Amino acid sequence: MIHYKTKEEVELLRENNQLVSRTLGEIGKHIRPGVSTLEIDRIAEEFIRDHGAEPGFLGYEGFPNTLCISVNEEVVHGIPSAKRILKEGDIISVDCGTLMHGFYGDSAYTFAVGEVAPEVRKLLEVTKESLYRGVAQVKIGHRIGDISNAVQEHAEANGFSVVRELVGHGLGRNMHESPEVPNYGARGRGPLLKEGMVLCIEPMINMGTRQVVFERDGWTVRTRDRKPSAHFEFAVAVTREGADVLTTFDFIENSVH
Ligand code: MG
Ligand code: MG
Repeated sequence: MIHYKTKEEVELLRENNQLVSRTLGEIGKHIRPGVSTLEIDRIAEEFIRDHGAEPGFLGYEGFPNTLCISVNEEVVHGIPSAKRILKEGDIISVDCGTLMHGFYGDSAYTFAVGEVAPEVRKLLEVTKESLYRGVAQVKIGHRIGDISNAVQEHAEANGFSVVRELVGHGLGRNMHESPEVPNYGARGRGPLLKEGMVLCIEPMINMGTRQVVFERDGWTVRTRDRKPSAHFEFAVAVTREGADVLTTFDFIENSVH
């Protein structure tokens, strides 16, 4: 069942996703070679609590940390660790959630650690563009498949592949609500977009094969061929004017503070 949000509820979701955006901006200042993924996690937890929210992922279905940090061939759901030290040329997907006023925030960004190889840089750019192509399909009367197809077309046109096992989702009082928002599919299919829907659109795009492996830690998902994967996520409300993007990457990319 799809929960349609009132304008007031959309504002609470915006507050959450703006805090996620600020948290991603904050940790972006600390991402450099030599830093462990657990250090980054701690910074995020403190920042979220200092701003009056709870980490949305901590304890969610038993997840042990504030952030999902997925390095290089890890697609999503990587567990922060003191032993995982970032090095020049890595990429890290940082997925962050908050819980405040009874609603969740959920957004993700893939950061480059120092200088990365040109083909990896391209993977990051194309994945982010795929997200924006998906967002551009958000309007009343379109269907979920229009978002899915736009993401898939852009990723595959650039020679990359789309993860099928994990998908975007509705967002609200629950982290994962209906409908599912796949990153692949046919135009004109799936649920109709209606006012008050809030969706997480989150392309997970692989450089090589689309096949993934679920690691034995019960969480980490990685590419089967161990080539890199990127992940960007926005929370978006469907309005009469089109997409109302509740997340921003400005705190990361434009150093707005
Ligand atoms: Mg997420
Ligand atoms: Mg999500």
